[in-house]
Amino acid sequence: MHFIILLFSLAILPAVTQAAPLVAVDVGHGIVDGGARSARDRPEYEFNRQLAGGLAQTLRERGLAVREINFDGLIGSLAERPRQAWGSDFFISIHHDSIASNWLKYWDWDGSEASHTDVKRGFGLFVSAQNPDPATSLRCASTLGAILRRAGFVPSTWHARKHLAADAENGVWYYDNLVVLYRTTLPAVLFEAGVIKHREEELELLDAERQARMADALATGLAACLSVSSPVARSQPASGRSPGRK
Ligand SMILES: [Zn+2]
Repeated sequence: MHFIILLFSLAILPAVTQAAPLVAVDVGHGIVDGGARSARDRPEYEFNRQLAGGLAQTLRERGLAVREINFDGLIGSLAERPRQAWGSDFFISIHHDSIASNWLKYWDWDGSEASHTDVKRGFGLFVSAQNPDPATSLRCASTLGAILRRAGFVPSTWHARKHLAADAENGVWYYDNLVVLYRTTLPAVLFEAGVIKHREEELELLDAERQARMADALATGLAACLSVSSPVARSQPASGRSPGRK
């Protein structure tokens, strides 16, 4: 009798003691390569680091585990990022966006000339069809986009110029050959929080209360999409998806 109860308990044990999902949060760029420059000439890395810090904290408050990637800004290479994330359940790389140089306008900022844009703003989410788990990547990206929109954030439509839509309504686009998205064993998303070359959006992106709302929306989306297991998606080979572009 007791033996049967023990067997039964062991059989259900994995279901009741499932570990919290582990999210690898990657800070885009670094101290040496700061990424894009904002309309007020601030390096993108500083924006990325700030939002990633808020996201890591919010994820932990919700009971998810976090692996910090490049929080010191000193990582050596792009390929090192997914390598350090190995063993996590999901990879999210935090970035802030710019615009192609032919669209730039110029203004006087703090006594010197700086570049900016009026035509592009909003967030973007990127997935790669070459990722080993494109279905989970896309499902999480769409969830993130939907929850960001519900929190009042607006996706950029600008990416339609260069990228195929994966879920345009929720701001999700294909970017197949990004190293951090395809040279990995994990489902992965690259998040562009907004356009720091846009003078008004730059100020919004620096607002601590807004950053906290954005981190909250991202954490809600990740917790939601990672709470659903996707055995069908995981059993599909990456080669079953044809990138067919770029
Ligand atoms: Zn970037």
